[in-house]
Amino acid sequence: MQIRDALERPLHDLRISLLDRCNFRCPYCMPESEFHDAYQFLTKSERLTHDEILKIARVATSLGVSKLRLTGGEPLLDKKLPSLVNGLAQLDGVEDLALTTNAMLLAPVAQTLADAGLQRVTISLDSLDEDVFRQMSGGRGDLATVLEAIDAAEVAGLSPIKINVVVERGVNDHTILDLLDHFRGTGHIVRLIEYMDVGNRNGWRMDQVVPSRELLERVEARWPLRRVDRNYPGEVARRYEYEDGQGEIGFISSVTEPFCGSCSRARLSSDGMLYTCLFANQGTDLREPLRNGADEDELADILSRIWLQRADRYSELRRPDVAEHHALSKVEMYRIGG
Ligand code: SAM
Ligand code: SF4
Ligand code: SF4
Repeated sequence: MQIRDALERPLHDLRISLLDRCNFRCPYCMPESEFHDAYQFLTKSERLTHDEILKIARVATSLGVSKLRLTGGEPLLDKKLPSLVNGLAQLDGVEDLALTTNAMLLAPVAQTLADAGLQRVTISLDSLDEDVFRQMSGGRGDLATVLEAIDAAEVAGLSPIKINVVVERGVNDHTILDLLDHFRGTGHIVRLIEYMDVGNRNGWRMDQVVPSRELLERVEARWPLRRVDRNYPGEVARRYEYEDGQGEIGFISSVTEPFCGSCSRARLSSDGMLYTCLFANQGTDLREPLRNGADEDELADILSRIWLQRADRYSELRRPDVAEHHALSKVEMYRIGG
């Protein structure tokens, strides 16, 4: 069965946030000033168990989901991740199973995850300049460890590897060409992401965004590019290839060129809230019905009701210049994993 929302968009992807904790404090996501030692993260009993996650994922696949992505917080802080991956990989209808991670803990488990059925990883890495990288990870990242993890992921066959780079004006935009140069010819796909106004804690301002158009011009001035078609209708990245055959890069332009029209993603937070938009200010609690004994048919009813009513298109409606838009209470990125 394939359900469609109020704007005729199918439900294709489910992004599952495994936990709200993280070993980084990227200022654009979990600034240290807010997420300090006394911050109350979810407790284990508040988080969904793996069995509960598997149940929701099974229901989602029965409604047309074929792509699953594990995220967080930092998903590799979940020590039982391989067994969850194994369970998800065996669900009928799952064609793509991927993980988004900061990769600090990836190298030792890359092969185990691949053996369990993980197909691909997306690794977040904002700069190859040591100082800039440290700053953008909130002083917690180690560049050599992340680069080793990328190699380990490649050896384990978790490819094509995508490298996510959040671009922030005056912070890392001067290091982007070096990063692209490093990954050209490796087969890894760098994706340059506009710094987004997700949540309410990162102090986002429009003047910190480098529009993709501007970045594209900077990249093209060094290496001519040609446009490539999207792989599938809901793909968020605009794809380009280096004309000299050294691979592909992508631009994710949620702020300046929104793509709500083809958005086919639902997001599950680690405490079991289902969100139908990255910028949602409310979700639907699936944990309560689960823990009250709802069976899969009942869960499928709840999920399809949520999707059938969905009319979100925040990025198309937002006006970056209107302050009230940022004052809206929105779910935080670390809770739903991007
Ligand atoms: N901790 C993992 C990681 O960083 O890969 C997974 C969760 S993280 C929330 C998922 C993605 O969201 C990362 O690639 C991160 O760079 C991106 N992200 C977080 N805050 C963002 C923001 N304000 N604008 C754009 N991307 C953001
Ligand atoms: Fe952690 Fe990822 Fe957010 Fe950085 S972007 S703080 S690594 S969840
Ligand atoms: Fe999808 Fe919401 Fe982003 Fe639009 S703003 S693309 S509906 S997540």
